[in-house]
Order: sequence, then structure tokens, then C-alpha cells
Amino acid sequence: MSDIDIEPTYIGKNEDLKFIVPKELFSMGTGPAETIDRDLAKKFSKYIRGTFKGFQDARKTKYGNEKNSKTKTTPEFWREFEQKARNMDVDFIGYTPVDESFIFYDLKVYGKNAIVLGMEMKWDKIKTAPSAICEIEVFRVYKVLGDVTIELTEYLKDRGFKSEAHHPFGGKLLYGPHAVAAGLGILGQNGLIITSEYGPRQRWSIITTDAEIPETKSRDLDTLKEFCRGCGACVRECKGEATFKEPLRYENSPHITHIDRSKCIRSILDNTYCSYCLKICPQGKKT
Ligand code: SF4
Ligand code: SF4
Repeated sequence: MSDIDIEPTYIGKNEDLKFIVPKELFSMGTGPAETIDRDLAKKFSKYIRGTFKGFQDARKTKYGNEKNSKTKTTPEFWREFEQKARNMDVDFIGYTPVDESFIFYDLKVYGKNAIVLGMEMKWDKIKTAPSAICEIEVFRVYKVLGDVTIELTEYLKDRGFKSEAHHPFGGKLLYGPHAVAAGLGILGQNGLIITSEYGPRQRWSIITTDAEIPETKSRDLDTLKEFCRGCGACVRECKGEATFKEPLRYENSPHITHIDRSKCIRSILDNTYCSYCLKICPQGKKT
């Protein structure tokens, strides 16, 4: 199968938004830094291998779309789709057209609309960050949401809609701006998407598809915005001193980041996958 058979919907044009493969993370060992018991070590190994495999499998979901040209959907179709997603533990489902400016440079995307999916990382695990327990939870959700995203993409493809999966570990477009456009959350001071339900404790993925999407539902996020504006805990307490209130901007790019990537990756490697920012946001804490 070759790319020639399938027409991409978009090819990323934003030269300032390049996809960088997180090589340092791929070269991580398949066991956390601290000593853990055999069962936990097995789980960790399963999730980390599953994450890397899912990341590669998602890139292959463009294949099989050669004859897919359907676009029309019905409310009943989406009711069934959402039920299926919820049965697979998806916590957030939102819809928005793909924003071309947030596609990584030179990458081909298949499908004009984005279905944004989110899945909770459980508080009882995240509250232990930085720790092996937290690290395992982070990779559990990468793996499970990745598998679910691929399965739902195949479901759409089987019904005739050109579609492609974008794995939570890394896709061809930025998830944050699409999650905000889909009305699911706000951009927190650290640049992570914050939701009323879990603060920053969820992973995101996207399915791009030619299926006509339902209208974006608007949620009232004003209280959350106000709380976040007056907080700043993630900037003050970032373990790797990698988070900044003022965005680090790339010239001529709509891409805004508040996290210095290299400092954050250093802290991830030095501090058992760090993830401290998932724990300190008051919005995500459970009592
Ligand atoms: S993972 Fe650690 S270093 Fe990176 S932003 Fe979160 S707290 Fe800061
Ligand atoms: S820690 Fe505070 S400032 Fe940072 S994202 Fe959460 S609510 Fe916003």
C-alpha cells in the first residue's frame, strides 16, 4: 500500500510547527527507576510497550481508506458512536473542524474534522507523583486511550468514512487547541488543557475524519478560567523549573507553549517521569 492511493486532506504548511520525535522518551528503559514488585514491573512493561506500538499503529490507520468517500451522518450514528466510546472508558468526546495551522509541518492528515477524545488519569495514582505508581498510570492511559482511538477509527473506516487515528503519545496535529475549540477545557497557565472534571489529569487523542460532525457543545468554563487566572501553582511549583507564565513563542507561529521542552524532558528522565504538574493543580485534586 502506498500514499499515492489515498489523497490526504491536508499537508501541514506551518514551517514553525515541526513534529519532533521524543527520542529520549523512546529510549527509556522498560522499567521505572525505583524498585517495584514483579507484578507492577510487568504492568509497566506492558503499558510502555503498548504505548510505543500503538503510536506506530496509529500512523498506519491511513491505510484502508482507499475507497472511503462517505460524509453524511445522523444523530443516531453519533449516539451509537459515543456509547461505544463511553463503554471503552472515554471520558470526553468533542467535535471541531481540523485547524490547519495546528498540523505539524509536512505531515499528511486524512479527514477534515476532528473528534477529540479524553481519558482520566486516576487521582489515587497521580497523587503519588513523582513515583513509579504515577508513571505506570501515565503510560496505562497512553496505551488504553491509544488502543481505543485506533479501534474507533477502524469503526468509522468500516462504515465508509475516511479517517485517521492520532495517538495520545503524539499525533500529526496539536491536541490542545482542538480540545479548546471543541469546548472541552481551557488552556491553563502551564499550557496544558484543564477541565472542570479533572484539572490537567487527562490525556487527549484525536480522530480526523471526513464524517460530518455534530455541533460543538458549549460548556460553561468561566469559573474555571477565573480560578486558573488567580492560581499559578503549576508555574511556581514545576519540578523542573520548566514552566513559564509568559508563553514562549515561536516566530510567525500560532503555537504557544509555556513549558521549556528540554528542561521538562530532563526532569521526566531524572524524576521517574515527573508528572508533578498533574498533581499540584488544585483543579484536579480529589479530597
Ligand atoms: S512534567 Fe515536571 S518538569 Fe515537566 S512541566 Fe510537569 S512538573 Fe514541570
Ligand atoms: S495549577 Fe493553577 S494556574 Fe496551573 S493550570 Fe491548574 S488552576 Fe491553572
